[in-house]
Amino acid sequence: MKNQTMAGIRSAWVEIDYTQLLKNFELINADTPAHLKKLCVVKDQAYGHGGVIVAKAARDAGYHYLAVETIDEAIELREAEITLPILIFGEVSDAEFTACLTYNITCCVNDIDKAKRFNAACLAQGIHHPIHIEIDSGMSRWGVRWNNALPVIEFITNECTGLVLEGMMSHFAMSDEADKTYANLQHSRFMEVITALKQANISIPLIHMSNTGGLLDLPHAHFNMVRSGILHLGVYPSLVCKRIEGLKPVMSVKAQIPALRQLQPGDCVGYGMHFTASKPMQIAVLPIGYGDGYPRVRNEGYVLIGGQQCSVVGGNAMDAMMVDVSHLTNVAVGDEVVLMGGQGNEWIDPRDLVQWKKTVCYEILTGWRARLPRRYV
Ligand SMILES: *Cc1c(COP(=O)(O)O)cnc(C)c1O
Repeated sequence: MKNQTMAGIRSAWVEIDYTQLLKNFELINADTPAHLKKLCVVKDQAYGHGGVIVAKAARDAGYHYLAVETIDEAIELREAEITLPILIFGEVSDAEFTACLTYNITCCVNDIDKAKRFNAACLAQGIHHPIHIEIDSGMSRWGVRWNNALPVIEFITNECTGLVLEGMMSHFAMSDEADKTYANLQHSRFMEVITALKQANISIPLIHMSNTGGLLDLPHAHFNMVRSGILHLGVYPSLVCKRIEGLKPVMSVKAQIPALRQLQPGDCVGYGMHFTASKPMQIAVLPIGYGDGYPRVRNEGYVLIGGQQCSVVGGNAMDAMMVDVSHLTNVAVGDEVVLMGGQGNEWIDPRDLVQWKKTVCYEILTGWRARLPRRYV
């Protein structure tokens, strides 16, 4: 993996439970209709889990398509000899489209000007290249607005012989919360385009709209392909979406204790004097901080050592943090610390870090920085 050490020797690391990843794919396969095609979203190194490794596992689990956000991510997959079709979300520039042709990567074309230029590039090389069109059904992000889509699709279909319109997609702004009102409005706008295409006698092979939230909660929005990025990682996009029995997080974050310190009453801990010992204490200094993606908390959150919760004391630094181990009877330099994941009977969920970092679980997963080596077990 680019920018990520696979055999890092640093004593703080991200651990990926590869067996659980394969199991999650199996459970999802068993839970989804057999005829449904599946696209695995592996953007941003599969949310920090390792893009190539997750892509290969998805391929072996029978997924039909991969998707990333950037051309560089797509090329990395091709260089790892992954031959599954790859879709790039968003818009690509002319230079990026040239690379798409070289590496056989599918991209989205959402307007007539771009269709003309990309078509000319294909014809110049004498090739037909697959593309998808994205319909903006209510996110105001990528794509052509649903009520302006038909002329663009007709133009691509009728005038661009170098482009093969293989897919049409849209994306939900809110598919995983209990209130599906807006998701259903987006779905009905997307349906308007589909109805118009039927009337115009245009058929597009792949129709896809659902992310994990839609896959779990909106079966009427599955069409013939779904796109999921977080589900096989064992993490749910929300507290209320449907659950799949047995699915578990694949990623843990661990470290080894490099130093223990004895505090006297009155001793201060960390930057900003956020913690002062009121009694004799023992703390562990951990070799990980907000520069690694851990939340920049002050006297909030905990880690697991010896199967017990140990509270963060003081303010976390970029490269280090301190936790209270006074209650542990048996703690030593070199002991394993779990910052996310399980130890003994305790479990720190990505959702716990969501509280401490005040964010969403997507940012917790992708937030662990590349300087933490990835270890696959
Ligand atoms: C990231 C992304 C997904 C995957 O979303 P999950 O909630 O992780 O399943 C699907 N579609 C698009 C367009 C995306 O950008």
